[in-house]
Amino acid sequence: MNNPERESQLKELMDSKKQWDFIVIGGGATGLGIAVDASNRGYSTVLLEQADFAKSTSGRSTKLVHGGVRYLQNGDVALVREALHERGYLRKNAPHLVKNQRFIIGNYKWWEKSFYTIGLTLYDLLAGTMSLGRSLPMSRKDVIKSIPQIVQTKLKGGVVYHDGQFDDSRLAVNLMQTAREHGAMVVNYTRVNKLLKDPEGKVCGVVAEDRISGGSFSLEGMCIINATGIFVDTIIRMDDPGMKPLVRPSQGVHLVVDKSFLGGDDAIMVPKTSDGRVMFGVPWHNRVILGTTDVPVKEFALEPKALNEEVEFILETAGRYLAKKPERKDVLCVFAGLRPLAAPKNDADGTKTKEISRSHKLLASPSGLVTITGGKWTTYRRMAEDTVNLALKTKGLPFRKCQTKKLKIHGYLEHPDRNDHMYIYGTDREKILGLQKEKKEYGEKLHPDLEFTVGEVVWAVRKEMARTVDDVLARRVRILYLDARASLTAAPKVAAIMAEELDKDKAWEEQQIHDYTEIAQAYVL
Ligand SMILES: Cc1cc2nc3c(=O)[nH]c(=O)nc-3n(C[C@H](O)[C@H](O)[C@H](O)COP(=O)(O)OP(=O)(O)OC[C@H]3O[C@@H](n4cnc5c(N)ncnc54)[C@H](O)[C@@H]3O)c2cc1C
Repeated sequence: MNNPERESQLKELMDSKKQWDFIVIGGGATGLGIAVDASNRGYSTVLLEQADFAKSTSGRSTKLVHGGVRYLQNGDVALVREALHERGYLRKNAPHLVKNQRFIIGNYKWWEKSFYTIGLTLYDLLAGTMSLGRSLPMSRKDVIKSIPQIVQTKLKGGVVYHDGQFDDSRLAVNLMQTAREHGAMVVNYTRVNKLLKDPEGKVCGVVAEDRISGGSFSLEGMCIINATGIFVDTIIRMDDPGMKPLVRPSQGVHLVVDKSFLGGDDAIMVPKTSDGRVMFGVPWHNRVILGTTDVPVKEFALEPKALNEEVEFILETAGRYLAKKPERKDVLCVFAGLRPLAAPKNDADGTKTKEISRSHKLLASPSGLVTITGGKWTTYRRMAEDTVNLALKTKGLPFRKCQTKKLKIHGYLEHPDRNDHMYIYGTDREKILGLQKEKKEYGEKLHPDLEFTVGEVVWAVRKEMARTVDDVLARRVRILYLDARASLTAAPKVAAIMAEELDKDKAWEEQQIHDYTEIAQAYVL
């Protein structure tokens, strides 16, 4: 095996008798942010993720680094200000991943232009020096130039504003690498099955299972952090079986279509859909992401499924604003994600997810377990800072100040060439190109219609802890999200490359293709 990183970390963990300062459960945005923060402050840190990094909610977002114009409409000014500042830090610390994106709101009523210009000017003011650009009114002609496919009947003009746009699972991988560079142990496919307690009933460790080899091991730690997103209640019940649920999941679905449905590089934002939500059409890796929905659900799944009514709602809403109306046959990928919304105390029937606060919820239980849930990708850094601070206070560990506001994230590159699909690797791009020079076949494409190469799969296995075909196609090169059908065609090739890298047999390869096909079929309409 060419990449022993995951296995060598596991061996070290299994052999280790030490007491870790931080054990973080969950490798999504929140847990990875905490691992980066804690290790950067010099605390010994372990992160355990039951599946792959960003396999759950963190790989299924709208991919916006934003203050949330919608929350401003709800009057949640403090939340928006905080998110806008975090947007600024993330753009500075990961310029290879976060880009400044123009959003256009088309105006069809006489009052909309001044109304949205005033609202969005407030948005800019809240960002202060972190603003990405001024919001401005636009003429009808300019709106059509920006979004050639916008419905022009009764179009009066528009307003342009700026927000950030990123690649969510790529940022997760880069955060994992950043944490590793600061000495953290970060392992995927390792599930926490039990919490350990001392005679006083305080949590003092975890029992975890290596889901690839099947072995089980215990770790001792001071601060045990539950950062498991929609799954936080499972861990809370390991601590206190009588605790009331903290999370109310809400499903959001997105459709990916060809870029020609917008016709330009600007995004479109619909401030009020027929169900009172916000809808986006955002260019992403030469496609357009349309979404999202907000439907309360009861199931806590790693692979949530889009409902037919959500798909129809997105197509219908997009069709009202776009002259080239997307149909089911145009959908390249449909994906669903579950928001870990913090459940309000008085929402007994669980039907009011649009009104649930999007800010994060942080609590320390009497046993010392610290749980963090809710929030947004955009605010992951601030959530991590708050969590580490609370854990240090709870456990009385010596306090060291958070330093992540200025911490560069792995791959940091100030001016990436966004015309090259490999720009998202930042400084790692050169290393992948180096691999491709080493062996001619590493430059070969994974699929004739797509730009991704064999070398990227090799890199994902060797340097990014990819262990399954799903890890590669869904979260390293993202073909699943860009064209789910093409990803099914590419799967056997990816399985063969991985088998060679990981020294696996034909049976492993076939099982991988089978497992991946089962997952990916749900992303095809
Ligand atoms: C549809 C949708 C659109 C969104 N769009 C945006 C957006 O555009 N911008 C934005 O800022 N935010 C957005 N968000 C919010 C953002 O995606 C989430 O707030 C964030 O990803 C949550 O991260 P997390 O780490 O808390 O949860 P997760 O990503 O779910 O991570 C938790 C992890 O814990 C692991 N885990 C669970 N149990 C165990 C265990 N026992 N042992 C080990 N590991 C375990 C899981 O496998 C999982 O990987 C969106 C969310 C949704 C659903």
